[in-house]
Amino acid sequence: MFVNDCLNVNEKGHLTIGGCDTVELAKEYGTPLYILDENTIRNTCRSYVSSFQKFYNGNGMPLYASKALSCKELCRIANEENIGLDVVSGGEIYTAVQAGFPMEKTHFHGNNKTAQEISFAIDSKVGKFVVDNLYELELLNSIAKEKNVVVNISLRIKPGVDAHTHNFIRTGQIDSKFGFALETGEAFEAVKKALSYENLSLTELHCHIGSQIFDIDPFVTAAEIMVTFMGKIKNELDVTISELNLGGGFGIMYTSDDEPVPYENYMEKVSVAVKAKSAEFGLPVPYIYIEPGRSIVGEAGITLYTVGGRKEIPDIRTYVSIDGGMPDNVRYALYQSAYTVVNASKADKEPDELVTVAGKCCETGDLIQEHTKVANVEVGDTLAVLSTGAYNYSMASNYNRIPRPAMIMVKDGKSRVIIKRESYEDLVRNDV
Ligand SMILES: *Cc1c(COP(=O)(O)O)cnc(C)c1O
Repeated sequence: MFVNDCLNVNEKGHLTIGGCDTVELAKEYGTPLYILDENTIRNTCRSYVSSFQKFYNGNGMPLYASKALSCKELCRIANEENIGLDVVSGGEIYTAVQAGFPMEKTHFHGNNKTAQEISFAIDSKVGKFVVDNLYELELLNSIAKEKNVVVNISLRIKPGVDAHTHNFIRTGQIDSKFGFALETGEAFEAVKKALSYENLSLTELHCHIGSQIFDIDPFVTAAEIMVTFMGKIKNELDVTISELNLGGGFGIMYTSDDEPVPYENYMEKVSVAVKAKSAEFGLPVPYIYIEPGRSIVGEAGITLYTVGGRKEIPDIRTYVSIDGGMPDNVRYALYQSAYTVVNASKADKEPDELVTVAGKCCETGDLIQEHTKVANVEVGDTLAVLSTGAYNYSMASNYNRIPRPAMIMVKDGKSRVIIKRESYEDLVRNDV
């Protein structure tokens, strides 16, 4: 009935998530409210882990891309589910450390890691640095030298696969701010340079071809290109790179138009391609990392709002105003992202009314969705926006000095707070 398996409708006609009545949750915790379903998150983690077992002799590990939603509880769950973490800032590293995460299972990304972040990352025992550019190689080596340590590194490679067109293309990816280009020879020079530094140990190559991708083919092509490059490094430099990181980007369902492939199919096809290419180049089969972010938390999350007003503009549209908006979900304002909106108070009713869901900020563009079908919306109804687990809280702001909502975790009919609602006091905490 819904795009997300954790959702249902109860005898009152209310939307439920993880066995909890959303209208009751809205009353208990207030709105706006972020909700995550724990079973969905854990099952997705397990499907990634088991796909490595099934198709690749367990010779790999998923890393949760914590930029999708970084908080202590998610770090704990990742750890319990035996997956690593991909972190992109000092703040995400700090969060993982505070959660007691085993830091050797983290990869540190980013195209402009500051000296302070690098130093903090080394002190925090981050497992691997995914180096983006030559300045970073130099900087990282000099900081590692000062600390008298050797750090494990990976290099971010642009494989030249652009997955963001319907038929993905294999060139034209040079224009990206991330990583070293293959086709210009830049990546090969970077490998040579990396090998020359005494305080760096190059063990991995990394690529990430985009986000919200539904085709498997671009992932397979990228994997083949990367192993081919490992073959070149072996042949010309006599160096074996033993690990391959293929990034994230697996698509999820926001609306019924989206058709994600089972994540297992991805690992199945990629394994075959990596094994075949490795054999072709006489390479040992590499250890594989993947970095799912959105697909781990996206469909597990929903956001609840309370409707505060309606504005019918004849022949144009009906606005429905909610008590949140772009501060808690900026994705429609940022890139017109599609979402499914459900009237949680009347989840058993046909979605028969076309409305535009407007936030409460002083911006005309503060919309959650335009011209979307929802069951007759009245003031006081609880609205649910689905698939908001990824890139909502993590992108949230305090625009208009609106406190960030609380986040709760639901499981088998029970709920608990995992991130407290911000208070007005929190808002002025750093004001002098
Ligand atoms: C954003 C990102 C991911 C996660 O992407 P999703 O689309 O959320 O799966 C993984 N790796 C890198 C390097 C990224 O930048």
